[in-house]
Amino acid sequence: MIVEVIINSNVKNLNRIFDYNVPIDIENDIKIGRRVFVPFGNMKEPQEGFIIGIKEKSEYEIKDILSIQKENSIEEDKIILAKLMARKYFCNISDCIKLMLPPGTTTKNIENRIKGKSARFIYLLKTEEEINEDIENNVIKSEKQKRILKFLLDNEEVSSIDLETFTDTTSANIKVLEKKGYIEIIEKTVERNPFINKNIIPTTNLTLTDEQKKAFDEISTSIKNNTFEEYLIFGVTGSGKTEIYLQLIGEVLKKNKTAILLVPEISLTPQMIDRFIARFGEEEIAVLHSKLSVGERYDQWKKIESGNIRIVIGARSAIFAPIKNLGLIIIDEEHDASYKSDKNPRYNAKEIAIYLAKERNIPLVLGSATPDINTYYEAMNGKIKLVSLTRRANKSNLPSVEIIDLKEELANGNRGMLSRRLFTAIQDNLKAKKQTILFLNRRGYSTFIMCRDCGYTVKCNKCNVTMTYHIEQNRLKCHYCGYERKNVTICPECSSKNIRYFGTGTEKLEAEIKKLFPEATTIRMDIDTVSKKNSHEIILNKFRDENIDILVGTQMVVKGHHFPNVTLVGVIAADSSLFIDDYRSNERTFQILTQVAGRAGRGESSGNVIIQTYNPDNFAIECSKLQNYQMFYDEEIKFRELLKYPPYCDIIKIEISDMSKSQTAKIATQIYNSLIEQNEDGKMAIYKPMPSPIDKIKNRYRWRIVGRCRFSNTIIDRVNTSIKDIKSANTRILVDINPNSMV
Ligand code: ADP
Ligand code: ZN
Ligand code: ZN
Repeated sequence: MIVEVIINSNVKNLNRIFDYNVPIDIENDIKIGRRVFVPFGNMKEPQEGFIIGIKEKSEYEIKDILSIQKENSIEEDKIILAKLMARKYFCNISDCIKLMLPPGTTTKNIENRIKGKSARFIYLLKTEEEINEDIENNVIKSEKQKRILKFLLDNEEVSSIDLETFTDTTSANIKVLEKKGYIEIIEKTVERNPFINKNIIPTTNLTLTDEQKKAFDEISTSIKNNTFEEYLIFGVTGSGKTEIYLQLIGEVLKKNKTAILLVPEISLTPQMIDRFIARFGEEEIAVLHSKLSVGERYDQWKKIESGNIRIVIGARSAIFAPIKNLGLIIIDEEHDASYKSDKNPRYNAKEIAIYLAKERNIPLVLGSATPDINTYYEAMNGKIKLVSLTRRANKSNLPSVEIIDLKEELANGNRGMLSRRLFTAIQDNLKAKKQTILFLNRRGYSTFIMCRDCGYTVKCNKCNVTMTYHIEQNRLKCHYCGYERKNVTICPECSSKNIRYFGTGTEKLEAEIKKLFPEATTIRMDIDTVSKKNSHEIILNKFRDENIDILVGTQMVVKGHHFPNVTLVGVIAADSSLFIDDYRSNERTFQILTQVAGRAGRGESSGNVIIQTYNPDNFAIECSKLQNYQMFYDEEIKFRELLKYPPYCDIIKIEISDMSKSQTAKIATQIYNSLIEQNEDGKMAIYKPMPSPIDKIKNRYRWRIVGRCRFSNTIIDRVNTSIKDIKSANTRILVDINPNSMV
């Protein structure tokens, strides 16, 4: 018996299928999806791999499998999915298989893992590229050190105990890496599982409103009849979508089946999970969340595998949870960009969900207050069944929205960040002892420094981007590679002392608020305050529990939370997302303004939203004032059709990067020429290779080719043909289908 094995490695030339002979004594254990250890090349240690095919003969001279492990194998249907994914998303099968394994399972010794909590967590100080380079160039020689680094690259929130047991290493190995500057060890108080709250009062089904009932009945039919059907629940914030999810899951459980609920990572809060625990009890619910330690995630995964779990709640990758007897998949906030992975494998969880739902003949339910344009388009064309909820379930009113024209403010001599209207509104809100959220449509990176005399700005040496100024540490940081340096006070080009600070970051806004309202308490939330040591949960709880007057923040304040005492939301500059180099800029602006407006007036008192903008006539901004999705859609879809953007086509981005500038351009041109050659039928609109908008990151030059077409097997073949024969050892080629970002 011969098996086809895929080696679990991200080394490019191992991304092939290798044949191995099966010794007679283990023939009975052979199954597709099983984990095996095999000899490979001149590697000293046996390599881990997975069986992806079984056959009788091989045309090669082959070696024997060394051992087979029944634990931590993968179901055969998942192997089929991994193969499909590797083709569709242009990546290694082993990268896809990793998504389907218990978190942390990358070495042999996991079964001996000591369960226990440690207060010490390990974080990487170097980037993935730096580490891979050091491993390839033998800067790191010790196998154990390599294992530690690879494990840390693959897993988040790793405690030292978990690290030692998962990688079969010792604290001495970890210490060495700390000395060499690869990692840092941080003491953290480990709380009990933050997502399990013991004092939850059980709830029962609410009586559904007519609208909810209609949605529920329709979807239940598909559950009863075991048929695949895709639904979109389009309902304003607070319209009772979650209550419908709860009752649908109840239906599925009655049939002795199970459910997966996907939520954007950032909305996966204890409050959110509590609602499910309150209805179904914690015993049958597993939560997969990157804030759990890798050990906890491993335990959750194992619990799911054991068959005792009936509901999985998690972020994007929870779609691969090994749950059996699946009866329903729900994707909440389906428009959220986090369902599309930016890392290898660059998959879209919605596409995986459709695949699974079709294969198992079960419904897929998407929910949103601001659906993805592509989703809504399919709903308009009948491919997705649309159910609408037009009213808030608890009868609170939608907030009123005002637009303030910042051009007029400027004309009236107001150069501050707050318009007079927003200033007075904050003042009134403080007097009324209500809370305010101020939302900045970007993070700190807009604060940069520039010489007034010669226009010099500080750029990162390794990446061609302007460095960001951080007030608290008085340092400059590169947000692409993490490089930091001292601030400059004298221009290195012309020696002028006239250094100016530009931009409106959250730090600057908070400082201005403190100056204008010295008596108010404030709290700030952005990518810099929400570091690994200080999660966004803590900030939001503090805001709510200590009744802090003003929360200043970025994108992160937009999601999920329910703050009954917030009656005012101010958007400082709505425009910044309008002019990003992306065909979705209007859509993103509309979504974010609508979502942030939804934060106001969720309690008894009604809410006010004030949106400041330089473009009051832009239709995305106008529609968000009216909170009218349909109007926005009708306008936006015309523009998409005219310019042939999704949903009227798919976009393929091929990114080529190399340390050598000329090599980058040369390879890009080669790929381009090959695509053109294959494109006689004109199925693909291919644009000439160009440097990417950010044309250098971490010392690698970046070029890209963009193509527009209907994605299909033919297109996959053409792209593969164009890249498979590229012989250039240091060139990296990434293919991204409908990428999140065009930068
Ligand atoms: P969404 O998920 O659309 O934001 P939720 O399901 O969270 O909406 O509902 C918003 C609020 O309305 C919640 O406090 C919820 O308990 C309440 N609610 C939902 N459905 C009903 C109902 N049928 N009757 C009474 N209250 C409801
Ligand atoms: Zn200068
Ligand atoms: Zn950099």
